[in-house]
Order: sequence, then structure tokens, then C-alpha cells
Amino acid sequence: MMQTIVVDQLQAALIAAGKLIVKNEPLLTEIDSIIGDGDHGTGMETGFSALQEVLSANQYEDIYSLMRDAGITLVKTMGGASGVIFGTLLIAGHDCVRGLREMDADGLIAYFDAGAVSIAKRGRTSPGDKTMLDALLPAIDAMRQMRTKTADIGLLFQAAYEGALQGVEATKAMLPRKGRSKNFREKALGLPDPGAVSVSLILKGMSESVNSGAIPQF
Ligand code: ADP
Ligand code: MG
Repeated sequence: MMQTIVVDQLQAALIAAGKLIVKNEPLLTEIDSIIGDGDHGTGMETGFSALQEVLSANQYEDIYSLMRDAGITLVKTMGGASGVIFGTLLIAGHDCVRGLREMDADGLIAYFDAGAVSIAKRGRTSPGDKTMLDALLPAIDAMRQMRTKTADIGLLFQAAYEGALQGVEATKAMLPRKGRSKNFREKALGLPDPGAVSVSLILKGMSESVNSGAIPQF
């Protein structure tokens, strides 16, 4: 039973998420080329390869400095809407983890929730707009549901990934209202939102890392 996630484990999980994003650049590019302006894959690849580089080269005293570094790296290197959006996802909750070396289940859920709330507010996005929030919100719901049964961090990440996947499926039936893909409306039907796919990949990478049981070495 994994009661908490310590800063080194979170760092390893983010690096694993970065690897998975970079590996899936062609998929993200393909989807965004059909229903967006085609830059989502390369933007994510740029940001998450920089994130891997920065995190691999540093050691962090607390979760605050880890998440701050990770989020700022995305904003600085990606540019555009999704740089701010995915940066916000990582940074928004960081003030609550100042000086903390570990987070428990409730802290983890609160962290992701802070990201979702901030993205919705800044992007003026609601559920059903066919954005990354349509994967993030079901992921957080799934974590909350799992939390009623267990406080195990590994199970929580697994639930988050599965919730995000269901969210990705649901975006296929949504008409885009936000971002550039809103210009593609009907064409976007049947295809998932690229940002939602990215959320599912991030959570998959984090879940696999956390559940691998490997002790991270930095
Ligand atoms: P851009 O829209 O500037 O070309 P990207 O192609 O990198 O940026 O990212 C597109 C993704 O960003 C979309 O698939 C969507 O998930 C997400 N997105 C765009 N606008 C918003 C918003 N206002 N709120 C939440 N997510 C958004
Ligand atoms: Mg785009």
C-alpha cells in the first residue's frame, strides 16, 4: 500500500509522462492536423522533452520547487494556448505543497483539482467544450471515487488514467467550442480532442511509473 508519493517518485513520474508524450507526438500531430491547426504534437513534444531534460538534471527539496520548475518549463518552451494550459495543470496547486516532501491521496486529488479549476477559470472552459478538461475532470472524478475505497496512491493514478481514457472517448462525440479546432466543428466529430489525449498520456505515464515499484535514482 502506497500511502504517499514522495518528491523523487513524483519527479520520476513526470519524466515518464514526458517520455510518453514525446513518443506519441505523431499521434497528437495527426489528430490536431485534422481538427486543429496541427501544432499540438510538436508543441507538446517541445515542452515535454524540455521538462524531461530539466527534471533529469535537478534534485528537488520539496514538491513545490519540483512542480514549479516543471510547469514553468512547459510555459517557457511551448508557447501558445497549450503551454499555459498544461503549465497551469502542473503549477496551480503548488502553493499548498511548499516545504512538503510528500503528498497523500487527498493532497494528490486536491493538487489536480487546483489545476482543473484554474484552467477552467482562465480558459473560460466548461465541461463538454471538447478540450483537455473533458479528460482531466473525469480523471479527478475517478480518483475521488477510488478514494472512497482506498488511499493507495498507485490505485488512484490507475483510476485517474482510466477516467481520462473514458473522457477521451466521450470527446469524440463533442463539437469543439474552444481553441482553434472550433473552426472545424463537424469535421471534429468522431475524433478525440488532442489535448484530452495528451492528458490521458500524461496520466498513463505517471501511473506506470508510480506502479512500477522502481525506486527512482537521481
Ligand atoms: P492551439 O489551440 O493554440 O493551437 P494546441 O494545438 O497546442 O494549441 O492545443 C490545443 C488543445 O488545447 C486543445 O485540444 C484543447 O484540449 C486545449 N485547449 C484549447 N483551448 C482551451 C481552453 N480555453 N481551455 C482548455 N483547454 C483548451
Ligand atoms: Mg493547435
